[in-house]
Amino acid sequence: MFKALLIEKDDAGYRAELKELDESRLPEGDTLIRVSHSTLNYKDGLAITGRSPVVRKFPMVPGIDLVGIVEETAHPDYRVGDAVVLNGWGVGETHWGGLAQKARLNGDWLVPLPAEFTPRQAMAIGTAGYTAMLCVMALERHGVEPEDGEILVTGAAGGVGSVAIAVLAKLGYRVVAVTGRTEDADYLERLGAAEILERSQFSSPGKPLGKERWAGAVDVVGSHTLANVCATLQRGGVVAACGLAGGMDFPATVAPFILRGVTLAGIDSVMCPRPLRIEAWRRLARDLDLDKLDAIGHEIGLGEVIPTATRILEGRIRGRVIVDVD
Ligand code: NDP
Repeated sequence: MFKALLIEKDDAGYRAELKELDESRLPEGDTLIRVSHSTLNYKDGLAITGRSPVVRKFPMVPGIDLVGIVEETAHPDYRVGDAVVLNGWGVGETHWGGLAQKARLNGDWLVPLPAEFTPRQAMAIGTAGYTAMLCVMALERHGVEPEDGEILVTGAAGGVGSVAIAVLAKLGYRVVAVTGRTEDADYLERLGAAEILERSQFSSPGKPLGKERWAGAVDVVGSHTLANVCATLQRGGVVAACGLAGGMDFPATVAPFILRGVTLAGIDSVMCPRPLRIEAWRRLARDLDLDKLDAIGHEIGLGEVIPTATRILEGRIRGRVIVDVD
């Protein structure tokens, strides 16, 4: 038997509960993992509360991240006892995920736990941190360099935003953080933000083009915020867009694209190919200071996940939530 958070949807409604399950209930897969830690991402909050249709099959164990030890495997790349990490691939959406003490899944989805990180640190990073790294790599791929100018990070005090600030600052960029929690300015400055801007400056409808300021941006908010970021990028600037914390819509004009040649680089961590994932984890090991990571992550138990899921959707969780599943 093992403990798991289980989401069910039937005549009795949509509900998430902590349950004791028999191992025989685990889905098919070539690899059985003893999970030590998972995380709580914004998407997990949507899944657990049922606020958006993230879960595609019921019953479902949520949790888009996990770290643990291989207990059984028929996959050629892994041996019993290997420490592994998983982010995305539809886990917690279409295949049982990490908010449980056991997971059975496809070994192709796993990445070896980088030697530089403890399991807890890998989950302090989690999907949010690995996505932040994918955003940074997208800016680099499009040629944005520290001397080109400032980088704007929206949703700064959240998971993606916190890791993006820490990595960009370490790489020598001047980072400007946008937050609704200016009372957390100290936290953002400790991560490396050089300047803090209030979220409301970006969240209302703006002009098609504004004063050029940012060489690059990482946006987790979407909606008017993303439109305003595009409108204020410098000529040739790039925004890595990965989130919808402020809305799924994109009420923009083409002006920034056709008059200033700006680039909107979309980021999808879920189906990201394996070589790029391995590269992102290698870069995190090199470009993220572990003392900053300690400030970003805080731990909860499996029993605290359900109330925390509501709080993450309200934007009331700072940094990253690590879940100790034992
Ligand atoms: P968090 O909840 O940790 O952070 C989101 C932050 O966005 C909040 O902390 C808050 O920052 C800000 N925010 C929240 N609500 C609003 C709002 N209504 N208007 C403006 N800002 C808001 O989430 P994550 O960092 O885990 O994820 C961020 C986004 O990125 C989510 O939409 C998530 O779904 C998406 N995502 C996408 C991935 C992909 O592969 N494309 C992978 C990972 C995440 P502050 O308090 O500083 O204002």
